Amino acid sequence: MENVHELKFLKEKIQQLKDQGVYRKLPVLQGPSDAEVMLNGKKVINLSSNNYLGFANHPRLKKAAIEAVEKYGAGTGAVRTIIGNMDIHEELEKILAEFKREEAAFVYQSGFNCNAGTIQAITEEGDLIVSDELNHASIIDGSRLSKAKKTIFKHSDMDSLEEVLKTNRDKYRNILIITDGVFSMDGDIAKLPEIVELAEKYEAMTYVDDAHGSGVLGESGRGTVDHFGLHGRIDFSIGTLSKAIGVLGGYVAGSNTMYEWLNHRARPVLFSTSLPPAAVGAIIEAIKMLMESTEYTDRLWDNAKYFKAKLGKLGFNTGHSQTPITPVIIGEESKTMEFSRELFNNGVFVSGIVFPTVPRGTGRVRCMVTAAHTKEQLDRAVDAFEKVGNKMHIIG
Ligand code: PMP
Repeated sequence: MENVHELKFLKEKIQQLKDQGVYRKLPVLQGPSDAEVMLNGKKVINLSSNNYLGFANHPRLKKAAIEAVEKYGAGTGAVRTIIGNMDIHEELEKILAEFKREEAAFVYQSGFNCNAGTIQAITEEGDLIVSDELNHASIIDGSRLSKAKKTIFKHSDMDSLEEVLKTNRDKYRNILIITDGVFSMDGDIAKLPEIVELAEKYEAMTYVDDAHGSGVLGESGRGTVDHFGLHGRIDFSIGTLSKAIGVLGGYVAGSNTMYEWLNHRARPVLFSTSLPPAAVGAIIEAIKMLMESTEYTDRLWDNAKYFKAKLGKLGFNTGHSQTPITPVIIGEESKTMEFSRELFNNGVFVSGIVFPTVPRGTGRVRCMVTAAHTKEQLDRAVDAFEKVGNKMHIIG
């Protein structure tokens, strides 16, 4: 018998990844995440991070992080429910609730944790989770942790959603409709007003994961719910603190009742140590900056429109994005990866995204323009796209 500790079964799977051409090494940043970065020893324009507002390396956030470390230390020493809950955690939740215009906000250590913890805490056997088919992996995994039944509706298809609600309303106690606020691979916005109408008609609860809408859509980046003016009509409003906010963490905003319950049942918070002071201090500063001015969100949208228009003019297929997420659809998987490599050789980092993350034949590079990019950097990136696009006969 072979020795199981040699992990031969994993070695075989790794070889399969290599055979399929999807084995990869992690790219290495040699410095901060910013508009232009040192990556694998090369200086490149960064079009792939979720650092929408350029906060990840912002001097005000760095200063706030240092001050928090000096006052509270490097770590918290415990989970929140034992003795890891500091007054800055409470301050963070208060300012988030105010920012999101909800009664309360409950903070997790990441957006992934937030979905993993919240969905299972608010559903149980006898309930039904109804999920958009393109929802994020953390929603899928979070739903798997729940004892509720799960089903999906076709992407942003309201007839499909209504069909599911109509067929199932009488079979379950609570129904929870879950959707991303902004879909990360295409940049389209969920049809929240219609979803809310259906939820009210069929007495279902609503849950919006606004990882890519927080800090991007709505007044001063308050998110998709604010963008549509739906405050008070969405039960659970999720955001990340790791993308536009530039740090780390996740939260769910909603009612005081929601907060009280999660405090007792959100397993990632009950069983995993709380966010470190540096992160909390920096996040509080970021939220204050958003509430002070629309400077950053304005610049993000201005840059995104500028870049998208230039790529469109060159003849690239930029899909149907309604947000700064700018997919450039190439199609075939290997051609997509080659396009990404060639762009890197020409000073631009934009990662290729292929099956299974997106359907076969719709491979793309996904450009994430940020408020931190200068027009000069965006022009240089567009020049590289034009050069490589022509060379590979994608345009022209
Ligand atoms: N939800 C969505 C829709 C996301 O795109 C992501 C990040 N890829 C997450 C949740 C997880 O967020 P975090 O990185 O903060 O864990």
